Amino acid sequence: MKNIQVYTNQNVLVLGLAKSGLAAAKLLHQLGANVTVNDGKPLEENESAQSLQELGIRVICGEHPLELVNSTLFAVVKNPGIPYTNALVQKAMSLNIPVLTEIELAYQISEAPFVGITGSNGKTTTTTLIFEMLLTGNKHPLIAGNIGTVACEVAQEATSEHTIVTELSSFQLLGVQAFKPKISVFLNLFEAHLDYHGTKDEYGKAKANIFRQQTAGDYLVLNADDKEVCRLASSTQANKMFFSTKQLLPEGASVEDGYVQFLGEKIINIEEIALPGEHNLENILAAVSVAKLLHVDNEAIINVLKTFTGVKHRLQFVTSINNRLFYNDSKATNILATTKALSSFNQPTILLAGGLDRGNEFDELKPYLKHVKALVTFGQTAEKLSRIAKEAGIKSIEFVDNVEHAVPVAYKLSEPNDVILLSPACASWDQYKTFEVRGDIFVEAVHRLK
Ligand code: ADP
Repeated sequence: MKNIQVYTNQNVLVLGLAKSGLAAAKLLHQLGANVTVNDGKPLEENESAQSLQELGIRVICGEHPLELVNSTLFAVVKNPGIPYTNALVQKAMSLNIPVLTEIELAYQISEAPFVGITGSNGKTTTTTLIFEMLLTGNKHPLIAGNIGTVACEVAQEATSEHTIVTELSSFQLLGVQAFKPKISVFLNLFEAHLDYHGTKDEYGKAKANIFRQQTAGDYLVLNADDKEVCRLASSTQANKMFFSTKQLLPEGASVEDGYVQFLGEKIINIEEIALPGEHNLENILAAVSVAKLLHVDNEAIINVLKTFTGVKHRLQFVTSINNRLFYNDSKATNILATTKALSSFNQPTILLAGGLDRGNEFDELKPYLKHVKALVTFGQTAEKLSRIAKEAGIKSIEFVDNVEHAVPVAYKLSEPNDVILLSPACASWDQYKTFEVRGDIFVEAVHRLK
């Protein structure tokens, strides 16, 4: 860890605890800052706040007094989930106090270079692929962020021999200043989180922070098929490395004669890749680009691509039982994600879907139901989904109480070579605390069939 002095004796306010706020507060305290932590949860119920208090850190919990922000502050470190419309954040900005997220701190203290991955969809999958390739290729990666440990904790352990691989949401990227990854990856840009960012333009600008500080020695790996990504990246100083699933790119990563190729070198036949889905091919081309730029040998890359069957809950291959293939795509909490999952298979599919009703009608799903021979549906949206299925000509529609009951029903309807896919197109909160819980219940029910 770099022994930086910038925070010594400076007043810093940490807004919002959770995992990242807790780690940031501890780190700033260790760096000699006068830290104040402000969190909504009352102190009696707030174990994290209590543990910080024991370290001698000032904690104010259960309310958000505006006076906490004043001109004596050197910086505010806010949890990425707190919007910029928050009164304390607004006040800090009006006083020109830097408002940072924890990833900026991690960057400031890290001896290891960063690989940062952003985009609307595919971040976790691509981050994991890159991590696995670097690991198999003996390049000493550390994974940080969403999956894994908070970045500023990882950065404390990292040496210059390591590489920190981390996915970055637009929320995190709004709070960076000096952050300068060695390699940044920009996968795609769909309209998402507009409730937070206001416009697609603002959302794009936040994502573009990933390469804002990059210079000629750095790389930006980007999707040549995404016009908005290319437009945003036109200002970068970094070396651009394009990838495409649609066009041949001899100076980037693409598919040639059925092979993944990078800079003209054929690496693997796409038939040998274990991870299904056209969208995953984009993630794979991005990951291969990063691995090659970091000098991972082809053998390691091939090894990962032949064996990696997906991150948990993201079109994750679960198992095959009597030639029925089970996939867990519980992370598909919206229609777009389920259309991607359905497009990944050419064989008869039994779809398990349903969940929280957000008021949409699912018509966008209809064109993707061609291979779906049966729908097993549950949750608040069951009626709506069954209507769409009927309109799409699906004869077999079953209503069940929950995911657990859906599995044996789906199996009864199936024949050898069918895909049985949990891809709910809805959030889980009407029945399950998280999409992870929903996915785990599915996987357990599948294993019980055996
Ligand atoms: P994120 O971390 O950005 O949410 P994940 O890797 O967790 O992305 O994937 C979430 C869902 O997004 C997957 O279930 C899949 O349906 C979809 N997805 C993954 N990669 C892509 C991509 N490159 N383009 C479009 N959709 C994708």
